[in-house]
Amino acid sequence: MSLDIFPAPAFEGSEKRLELDWVALGPPAPVAARGLRALTLQQVTSLLETTGCCIVSSRSCSIFDAYVLSESSLFVYDCKFVIKTCGTTKTLALVPMLLEFARGLGLAPSRCKYSRASFMFPEVQPAPYNAWEAEVDALSCLFLHLGPIHACTLGEPSAGSLQWHVFVAQAEPAARHLAGPSSCSVEICSTGLCPEQALSFRRADGDFVSAAQTTAKTGIRSLLPNADIDDFLFEPCGYSMNGLEDDGVASTIHITPEDHCSYASLEISGPKQAGSIAAILEDPSLVVRDASSIFRPSQMAVAISWTAEHGSELGGLLASPTGYCQAGNWVQTLPDGGAGALEDPVWVVDLGAVKRLYEAWTEAMPRVRPFYAAKCNMEPGLMATLSSLGAGFDCASEAELRAAVQAGACPGKDIVFANACKRPRDIRAAASMGVNLTTFDTPCEIQKLAQHHPGTAALLRIRADDPDARCQLGNKYGAEPEDCEALYLAAKKHNIDIQGVSFHVGSGATNPAAFAEAIIMARRIFTDGQKHGFNMTMLDIGGGFCGGKFDMEGRVDLGGVPAAVNAALDEHFPASTGVEIIAEPGRYFAEAPFTLGCMVFGDREGQTPAGKACYDYWITDGLYGAMNSLLYDHATLFVNPLGQPNHADKGSEGEDFTSTVFGPTCDGLDTILRGVMLPRLHVGDWLVFNRMGAYTMTGASAFNGIDPTEASIFYVQSEEMTAKSKA
Ligand SMILES: *Cc1c(COP(=O)(O)O)cnc(C)c1O
Repeated sequence: MSLDIFPAPAFEGSEKRLELDWVALGPPAPVAARGLRALTLQQVTSLLETTGCCIVSSRSCSIFDAYVLSESSLFVYDCKFVIKTCGTTKTLALVPMLLEFARGLGLAPSRCKYSRASFMFPEVQPAPYNAWEAEVDALSCLFLHLGPIHACTLGEPSAGSLQWHVFVAQAEPAARHLAGPSSCSVEICSTGLCPEQALSFRRADGDFVSAAQTTAKTGIRSLLPNADIDDFLFEPCGYSMNGLEDDGVASTIHITPEDHCSYASLEISGPKQAGSIAAILEDPSLVVRDASSIFRPSQMAVAISWTAEHGSELGGLLASPTGYCQAGNWVQTLPDGGAGALEDPVWVVDLGAVKRLYEAWTEAMPRVRPFYAAKCNMEPGLMATLSSLGAGFDCASEAELRAAVQAGACPGKDIVFANACKRPRDIRAAASMGVNLTTFDTPCEIQKLAQHHPGTAALLRIRADDPDARCQLGNKYGAEPEDCEALYLAAKKHNIDIQGVSFHVGSGATNPAAFAEAIIMARRIFTDGQKHGFNMTMLDIGGGFCGGKFDMEGRVDLGGVPAAVNAALDEHFPASTGVEIIAEPGRYFAEAPFTLGCMVFGDREGQTPAGKACYDYWITDGLYGAMNSLLYDHATLFVNPLGQPNHADKGSEGEDFTSTVFGPTCDGLDTILRGVMLPRLHVGDWLVFNRMGAYTMTGASAFNGIDPTEASIFYVQSEEMTAKSKA
């Protein structure tokens, strides 16, 4: 029977390719040691279901797992997920579920690259795949938070010619830091395959024996001599294979042989040092020539992408195979690789220090669960680490609430909305997110809560000041004892449940007695509240704890506050009362783990009144950026030239000069350091600022168009030094 009277069903061979890189957030859990490869088969199957494909075959090597799919292929590495799907599959549909699974493994995405060639039949694609602009929108919604987005189209828009669409979003520093060895991929899309050649990829006719035989006979085997090949021939036609090489090279070929929609794709990707990849980079013409002889297409589009450390590294221009002429050659540089030397400010976040600070806290104050104050520093690695260790969060706005949830907090258990006077929109956001614990100190706030979030429980914030604290809060917040009667009445009238008391002695508090006195006062308010019929079950001792300090062995020194807190709690809120104790430390966790590096990009020599040389320097961050802490947080900066970590303590071997350090904006106020002694620095040198995590990044502005998010973030995981035996 001939089917010619029906329009032949056209199959779209052109694949959508999604590549996601991942980073570990926080200390890796044992299961996360395998990264994404710890995904269960059930999870992988569920992911694929959302896109509309299923697994046909799978194979593993030491570096990755490769799946042949009903529509193309999937590759899963520890920290990389690459899926290519053809037909009318919905590749992006798996993203939300994948993000969730990955979060369960302690992984967060750091980079997304999505690419595809032109579709032969764009009109049959479901939205958003029917228009590149719509795909870019959809991708942006999913990955905007990763960092800067780049979308481009290479090739001529003329009818019938293949174009190449690429979308990249990434946290640039993470990618630079964590992408591992630089990688390279070669993708070749071919259309209009020679009909005789295409016959080899039919199961129904021709002289089909086995997929392996097809692989050998068509020349694919000799194209990939080192690969473990997992090949499959579909019924009645169509060929797919994955190749696995132990040095991490993955290859995949998919062929749609039907005459009216014939299409073949070949991809080889892997680390640049791997043998097959190095050979391709040396001379890409060879693989193109081999592909042309296997498929004999009328048209080929070749896309080579690689991360370059030093500009272009392709060995030679692409020579056309015999019988083909080159229609064009397009080069697009994306800011993912080859970023060259660092120039923008660099943050180094020590997640190991975060962990030790957390452990020291729970050891020093075992009854007090910390709810980290997000306003101090919302850096996602810090927040996710704290969340994974068991901390809750103190948030003050919708954005902070979202950041906490993103970090892993459960809205009903792990968040206190500890802003005593909230914007209505933030209260509504808390209500919609299921955050049901907040603080208040006025009857007005009770009314707002009743209106926008009637189900919330509330802690009565009382005033309790440490007069020595670095930043005072008592001028703005905290009810006096004589105000409390009116607050109980208002809460009763509006049916808001007062569940306890909170206070904050002021940020950067040094006075243990301030905490002890505040706890005594809280006890009195508790008793009054109970008299008014409230079930008082929670005491929130707020923030104020100084930035955690490490001793020579890397152990945390918490000062005198914990002892005072524990003694006051044991006396006034003994464990037998069942009162839950929480705190809202910000500075304690955020300050020490963050180090900031800034490059010198200008200098000027002058003379002191005494006739000695002195120097002015311009560096890449300043008062309008992270160093806003000089103004708002009354901070002192700890600076050392890069490579001389103890310069400030010991002085250097060479001569020091009186120096002034300016920030990058055009404001004279933007002066970071005056009269400091520094060695002679030059443009390109770096200054390193320690303990920069508290109230720095969150207050930075983009004044003068100098965007604080241009800074790079690197994560390190330091370990405690083993205690040295003391002489
Ligand atoms: C700022 C703030 C904190 C954090 O204070 P630190 O001094 O950084 O510990 C905690 N709670 C509230 C309500 C705050 O406003």
